[in-house]
Amino acid sequence: MEQPMVRADNVHKSYGATPVLNGVSLTVERGETVCVMGPSGSGKSTFLRCIHNLETIDAGRIRVDGELVGYREGRGGRLQHLGGREVCRQRSQIGMVFQHFNLFPHMTVLENVTAAQIRVKGVRPGEAEATGRKLLADVGLANKAGSYPRQLSGGQQQRVAIARALAMDPKVMLFDEPTSALDPELVGEVLAVIRDLARTGMTMIVVTHETGFAREAGDSLVFMDEGRVVEVGPRPRRDRRPPAREDPRVPLDDP
Ligand code: ADP
Ligand code: MG
Repeated sequence: MEQPMVRADNVHKSYGATPVLNGVSLTVERGETVCVMGPSGSGKSTFLRCIHNLETIDAGRIRVDGELVGYREGRGGRLQHLGGREVCRQRSQIGMVFQHFNLFPHMTVLENVTAAQIRVKGVRPGEAEATGRKLLADVGLANKAGSYPRQLSGGQQQRVAIARALAMDPKVMLFDEPTSALDPELVGEVLAVIRDLARTGMTMIVVTHETGFAREAGDSLVFMDEGRVVEVGPRPRRDRRPPAREDPRVPLDDP
């Protein structure tokens, strides 16, 4: 059987003496969008950071596309930390979008989208620019290539951040409350881009407080509390076509 794209098994993580992840398990199939909700402090961001290899985990396993994140299995199944190059390689396969966009302020929009392609992946500048312009068009910002981040609205900046992550051709996209910092009138344009992306078959984990979006765009919905996944919504439709008028999904309220 095909491996899931992301598989977390019984992941534990503490900061000092403070346990933050207390046995998180989650499977994300290829092409699936999982939305994650839960109260502040429940470990959502930490979990995404562990998948992205920005944090090391204390126990459990995380696999992306079948490959252990952060560790290799040595003799007798003992785990050894990966070296820096391997960690960088794993990180480059995952796209992450943060609440506060985190664009490079001194670079144009196009430079933001091409920089990592050129520096990390070694793509030729002309090719990186062609990819970048296509992605900017996909997020509705073809005409902003030469602008600087400060000249854009928050919604536009977040769409650039999404294009920048996609430019690395990631296996998985992680979104950490991508609309929480936006004025309400700008939330919709960013959610529309994420929804379009879900329909392309990208594998995604979206931490969000947007209940309507999570129910409509997510193939499944997960609740986290106190460092655990406490509830899992319906399993995915494998059918990635946009929902028909009569959506066959079971409403979330039904048991
Ligand atoms: P969420 O994203 O669900 O709001 P977080 O993963 O950000 O939750 O945080 C979970 C808990 O871990 C919180 O209690 C937070 O204070 C703590 N925490 C997060 N990052 C750190 C850190 N770098 N050092 C110490 N504690 C942290
Ligand atoms: Mg958070």
